[in-house]
Amino acid sequence: MNTKKVRVRFAPSPTGPLHMGGVRTALYNYLFARAHGGVFILRIEDTDQTRYVEGAEDYVREALKWCGLDIDEGVVAGGEFGPYRQSERNDFYSEAVKLLLVSGYAYMAFDTPDELDALRKKAASEKNVFQYDALTRMNCRNSLSLNNEEVERLIESGTPYIVRFKTPDVAEDIVFRDEIRGEICISSQVVDDKVLVKSDGLPTYHLANIVDDHKMDISHVIRGEEWLPSAPLHVMLYKAFGWEVPKFAHLPLILKPEGNGKLSKRDGDAGGFPVFPIEWKDPKNGNISSGYREQGYDPRAFLNMILMLGWNPGDEREMFSLEDAAKIFSLERVVKSGARFSPDKARWYNEQYLRQESPAKLAEPFVKLALDRDMALNIKDAEEILKMMLDRISFLKDVFEAQWIFKAPSPEDYDTEMVRKKWKPETASYMFDLKEMLETVSPFNATEIESRFKRHLEEKELGFGQVLLPFRLALTASGGGPSMFDFAEYLGLEKTLERLTNGVDEIEKIKAA
Ligand code: GLU
Repeated sequence: MNTKKVRVRFAPSPTGPLHMGGVRTALYNYLFARAHGGVFILRIEDTDQTRYVEGAEDYVREALKWCGLDIDEGVVAGGEFGPYRQSERNDFYSEAVKLLLVSGYAYMAFDTPDELDALRKKAASEKNVFQYDALTRMNCRNSLSLNNEEVERLIESGTPYIVRFKTPDVAEDIVFRDEIRGEICISSQVVDDKVLVKSDGLPTYHLANIVDDHKMDISHVIRGEEWLPSAPLHVMLYKAFGWEVPKFAHLPLILKPEGNGKLSKRDGDAGGFPVFPIEWKDPKNGNISSGYREQGYDPRAFLNMILMLGWNPGDEREMFSLEDAAKIFSLERVVKSGARFSPDKARWYNEQYLRQESPAKLAEPFVKLALDRDMALNIKDAEEILKMMLDRISFLKDVFEAQWIFKAPSPEDYDTEMVRKKWKPETASYMFDLKEMLETVSPFNATEIESRFKRHLEEKELGFGQVLLPFRLALTASGGGPSMFDFAEYLGLEKTLERLTNGVDEIEKIKAA
């Protein structure tokens, strides 16, 4: 039984906004840490300065904050294993690579880009693909193929060089276990002599990643499937250093809604759904990509949706708070195959979370949304509106599509199609009678209005459809919405009558046109 303390890290590179898949990697790491009383670390992998994008690190932190994924250790949060930004850890990498050079697991390579290009072309002309490895390296210019004096001369004269990992001379099986995929066995022959240090002296991802995971005492490496091909090299690197290999778990891809291929930003643009947690403004061209936050998603709904993309509890449950998920999360229940993203399901999750809330609690954010639209709304009305609308909307902002729900102004855009179909020559007189009846309802509340309405229909020998739908049409200009009795109560007698009168006038005008 391995009793090593669980320490996991989310290690994004600040090369742009965090994709939904990145959020899921962070979430699974977070849940795994919480499930095992472990530590969740945020490490910024910024060794590749050419791909560095301004604002990307801040974006990652803000996105994780919005999701409620609290970081125990890392950039800003701090911790004993810092610094947590790779660009500040170069001393560790230089020291580590020296160890590999001394022990013979790494070597210096002086080949120029032109020389490498010539080797690639030559291989291509022989219908091969050039790979810098055990078979080819002795034909290249490196500290293994050149004699010591030549190597010293090159170094002294300041010739640029890189450091490569030396894969075994004789092919070996690299065997490791993936917590999701089981045992994986790959021949070292298929792995090339990867670059560990670039000619500017900075480490590549592979070196920095292994050194940091070791130095930060990482117990489990939980990351996207795209890193699975790098895992054999990583295992060899740990062994070369003589370090304990952490456990690996490579998460399945998130697939397009159609199920064919990896979900990309382009799919989001085409399908009208975000692929980023929060809005991203590209510093290069100012282009804005929408985020779930800005679309009006409850972060809990977004996370719950992400949670279920590749994991299941083993039963039918679909609703999980972070706390509940942390109690039962396990890597064994992460699926191997890709998980198909569904924009409808994302919306469904938001509806579920919205409906769990009380109108009283949502009233304040709703008033704020109204203010953003230059609408003054009091808390009481906001609450009443939400009581009527909550189970008819996917997002709070959807309420604004039903402008008639607000007391002022009276609706104008009548559904002419509906008017033509449902408004008969005699309907105006039904509305007139209804108005007279409504004036006598006291107290003017939904229950009373409803029972009087029913009695009225009986007395007049009219059907529900003959009166209720025109009543709705006159008051709301549309054919759907909440209970008209609730709506009339919320409007109050005066407004109800005013809308009824105006509505009949407007509708009659449409009919006459
Ligand atoms: N920096 C890598 C990335 O951007 C992290 C890979 C890993 O977790 O090992 O995804």
